[in-house]
Amino acid sequence: MSADVTEMDLGEGRTVTLQRRPPVRATTPDALRAFDAADRYLLKTVPQDRAATLVANDRFGALAAGLLMTAQGPRRDGYALQWWSDSHRARLAMDDNLVANGLDATAVTVVTGDKDPAGPIERVVLRLPKSLVWLEDQLLRLRPHLAAGAQVVAGGMIKHTPRRAYELLEACIGPTKTSLGWKKARLATATFDDALVCRPRVAPSRVDVPSLGRSLVVRPNGFSWGRLDLGTRLLLANLQAVEGLAASTRPVAAVDLGCGNGVLAFAVAQICPNAAVLGIDESYQAIASARDNAAAVPRPGDHGPVTFEAADALASVVEPASIDLVVCNPPFHEQHAVAERVASDMFADARRALRPGGQLLVVANRHLGHAERLKQLFGRSAVVVATSKFVVLSARR
Ligand code: SAM
Repeated sequence: MSADVTEMDLGEGRTVTLQRRPPVRATTPDALRAFDAADRYLLKTVPQDRAATLVANDRFGALAAGLLMTAQGPRRDGYALQWWSDSHRARLAMDDNLVANGLDATAVTVVTGDKDPAGPIERVVLRLPKSLVWLEDQLLRLRPHLAAGAQVVAGGMIKHTPRRAYELLEACIGPTKTSLGWKKARLATATFDDALVCRPRVAPSRVDVPSLGRSLVVRPNGFSWGRLDLGTRLLLANLQAVEGLAASTRPVAAVDLGCGNGVLAFAVAQICPNAAVLGIDESYQAIASARDNAAAVPRPGDHGPVTFEAADALASVVEPASIDLVVCNPPFHEQHAVAERVASDMFADARRALRPGGQLLVVANRHLGHAERLKQLFGRSAVVVATSKFVVLSARR
């Protein structure tokens, strides 16, 4: 077994091996494994029957792999799951982990976060997400697809689960019972009450972007929910660093890597009307928000296109040495080591994608030390602007 693959015990002598995406070394703490006690608690609690099951928010495929593995034997035939996630990266990890365990990936129907699952669903096995707005949206979207008496079994680590998560289950699904804690994880089981009077679905939030002269929508689970990020603001105010491209006489290709609702992509397109701008994000809700925003204000026909695509960084969607400009406000919310790793992989991908002379423009929290990584990759990087919290860095290939 390679160093970054860990084994999850399913009881009765069954195990699955799991790997995160991006992989982390096995020497890292338990918190950085591809599964945790909440996944194991869900798997040992959910009955092993043929109920029509939806798995939601599975982080690296531990739940899908565990359920499929325990469904082996006579019940395997015809056993299928719906798998609902807003993370393209989680989807790739799930696929890899099913293949690595010899499990039948065709038994899993992936439903991306911007779509609704198909009913009737008899059981939902749900990892409680970090965003309560996203949890509420998911629960309200589930209701029309739940069978009478359906159960939503939700799990999370106790220290990451606010009481409000359980209240949402009760308010959006029906009567909810919480379990005892097990290895610092807790489950809650909500039984569907179709007579419950619930709020309507969560509406997208709107953020004003004065420099674009418009507001942009952010769907639940999209970055910048309710307010424009401070780092984004700083990069928007310093985009003159790319103005040279506006004068280019040849077609310009630009990428907004980790585009969220598309705010930086739209700003680049405004400065460089001839640029073809591609926004990439691993969140399906982010891409759907960005597409909503693009559709709301169509680009004049003589301007370059602004398009958006769900992907894990750039490697699978952009030819090497084909891009003039990459703008990037990388994620910083995952645990520190992982956030640095994800950003670092994004910068390496950006370097591969850039033409010689092409520019990478990054905004980040100062304490994250991205300048050092850019120096390793590009030889040098320049500070465009720095505040007490944020820095905008520029590097050229
Ligand atoms: N550019 C937007 C803005 O400034 O408002 C969003 C920036 S937010 C800090 C980082 C974004 O990167 C999130 O939308 C997140 O979903 C996305 N992201 C994280 N990891 C990614 C990956 N491996 N590939 C593509 N996007 C990723």
